[in-house]
Amino acid sequence: MNKCLKEACGVFGIYSKGKNVAEFIFYGLQALQHRGQESAGIAVSDGDDILVFKDLGLVSQVFSEQNLAPLQGSIGIGHTRYSTTGKNIWKNSQPIYRMFNDEVFAIAHNGNLTNTDEIRKEQMRKDIRFETSTDTEVIASLIENSGCLSLEEAVKEAVDKIKGSYSLVILSKDALFAVRDPHGFRPLVIGEREGDWIIASETCALDIIDADFVREVDPGEIIIIDKDGMRSQMMLDVDRISMCVFELIYFARPDSYLYGKNIFELRHRMGRQLAIESPAEADIVIGVPDSGTPAAQGYSAESGIPYIDGLIKNRYIGRTFIQPTQEIRQIGVKLKLNPLKEIIRGKRLVVVDDSIVRGNTSKKVIQMLYNAGAKEVHMRITSPPLLFPCYYGVDMATKKEFIASHRTLEDIRKYLNLDSLRYLSIDGLVSAIGHSKDKFCFACFNGDYPVPVNEDIYPEKDFTDSEDYINSDILKANH
Ligand code: SF4
Repeated sequence: MNKCLKEACGVFGIYSKGKNVAEFIFYGLQALQHRGQESAGIAVSDGDDILVFKDLGLVSQVFSEQNLAPLQGSIGIGHTRYSTTGKNIWKNSQPIYRMFNDEVFAIAHNGNLTNTDEIRKEQMRKDIRFETSTDTEVIASLIENSGCLSLEEAVKEAVDKIKGSYSLVILSKDALFAVRDPHGFRPLVIGEREGDWIIASETCALDIIDADFVREVDPGEIIIIDKDGMRSQMMLDVDRISMCVFELIYFARPDSYLYGKNIFELRHRMGRQLAIESPAEADIVIGVPDSGTPAAQGYSAESGIPYIDGLIKNRYIGRTFIQPTQEIRQIGVKLKLNPLKEIIRGKRLVVVDDSIVRGNTSKKVIQMLYNAGAKEVHMRITSPPLLFPCYYGVDMATKKEFIASHRTLEDIRKYLNLDSLRYLSIDGLVSAIGHSKDKFCFACFNGDYPVPVNEDIYPEKDFTDSEDYINSDILKANH
């Protein structure tokens, strides 16, 4: 349960040979809701026209039987958004639509470009206007103004110019495109259902509509699906694959498979590795739900210390429409979690969580556990200390806000009032993941940014918004 990590967006696309697809997209987006809760949208094509409906809110709040019914068409894309660039206002919600050679196309994006300003300025010098502040519109604008004869060529030309992280779905009146950046920062998978093709951020969105997982879109690959079937091209040189390791630690749903591995299983292994690296003398292991739970079970399995659900999560706190009063804000983490006093009283606890950003949430959780009668609290974290901001689509905190950037391990332990505190090492994380280290981005831990960033154009953000603080453990994924 990390309150300060916000990813940004889930994308979904489907090409059917004849079925209406809006409902499939609706269910797919529901499965991807953890990746973004600020807005949701669907665009469908009936072969002649593209219709788009989108609004601020959760998928179930935005869509109803009434507004899904007019979305008739057998090709479509969908999006659920958390904003990493651009405010949470209607016009920034996705899919966004533009014209290409007198025909509409729609685009949905998960990721964050690192050269948005540069391209935007260049476009504006050509008198091209922008309606939104999102990097997705920059991609759409490059396509719209490419001068190419075909959309396929325009998409290729656009992705040749953009840098950073992007998993895209693009809809034309008769085709569906999927594109993944050459580093593969954000996931993108291909599924199949009764001859229909599906593209989604995570496999959990395939499961919900009973689609079979086919494979991941490769970094640097463009997929084109039209009446002739699915074809693929490698459009960009892949010099360094850098899949986001935080997808595995925290963002992705535990029932998803990413990079060939089940996320629950991976988190369980992270917990086991943590128990090997940092044992503790304790009576019970508890996880901070939800993302800490599989790792806590792994820690228990390795250490032999029994696992118990010691923190109960209130699952019914939506985020978008909850505007807590100041008084409610002060209740903070209690809105989300309640300790089981009978389980905790008099016990020495190992508490497993996925990360510590600023430490505010952890401090409150730990205090709640002491208030519930815990005798000792030993915290174990399934990631290395967060030290550097993410520029590839995860809204975390500024460098100076990371607690680990200005405190030693012992200082953090004292600040959080813990009996002991340990983080998983980078090598331990790699060993738990079971993939080669050089396939992943670890920049938020080690500052080794796979795509260079100009920190001047990414000013340090003020990330002290209390509403986010209260609600953000309902995860938000990039765009
Ligand atoms: S910096 Fe961290 S959160 Fe961002 S892409 Fe890299 S690993 Fe993921």
